[in-house]
Amino acid sequence: MQSSFFIDLLFPRRCPVCDGIVMPKGRLICPGCVRVLSFVKDPVCKKCGKELFSSDMEYCFDCVKHKRTFEYGRALINYDEHAKSSMAKIKYKNKREYLDFYGDAISLRYEKIIRRMEAGGLVPVPVHPSRKKERGFNQAEVLAQKIGAKLNIPVFPDMLVRNKKTMPQKALNPTERLKNLEEAFMPGKIVPGVKNVILIDDIYTTGSTVEACTRVLKKSGINKVYILTICIGRGQ
Ligand SMILES: [Zn+2]
Ligand SMILES: [Zn+2]
Repeated sequence: MQSSFFIDLLFPRRCPVCDGIVMPKGRLICPGCVRVLSFVKDPVCKKCGKELFSSDMEYCFDCVKHKRTFEYGRALINYDEHAKSSMAKIKYKNKREYLDFYGDAISLRYEKIIRRMEAGGLVPVPVHPSRKKERGFNQAEVLAQKIGAKLNIPVFPDMLVRNKKTMPQKALNPTERLKNLEEAFMPGKIVPGVKNVILIDDIYTTGSTVEACTRVLKKSGINKVYILTICIGRGQ
């Protein structure tokens, strides 16, 4: 009998959408719940990967308006109420097992695109050390480990360092927000020979976090930066 049978008995797999026990065994999400998630569909913005309303557009409104120094990104699902509640449970209710599903789904859906990025490694967006201690883990790092294991790509959790907690971002305009964030990240350990990397995060909203991280990585000698996230905000 397989050891996973006992693991299932002791720790039944919980669904990232309804948090119920997943049936049939061996799946990572209920067959019904996978249909509840709003997977990102084409056409998407050529920069951030956000769904576009019309195929006449190449870029979303945000990407036209703001300078992006990353190459491009892809996201798995739209950040709706279901996604929001799932992401919150990962972070605040210690449901890191949900990341097994998201890591698998991202790897399956975007493997071809990821291979084309020719990245030397995956770099999770860091959280402040005190927050990581509080939570016990960094969700972006756990997700990066899942994708890395699945696609055999190294993970560099120390390439970026978060050296301060950011101020509440809502009160800031986009320029202030970016500056605030750029000061929050610092270059960490350089990995010799790595030219391109993929930044990994749970949620892409305005893009200012990944843009700030990209700028710091580029200053430390990285050539191209790509983005992969679980969720992406809607709107143009
Ligand atoms: Zn479910
Ligand atoms: Zn965009």
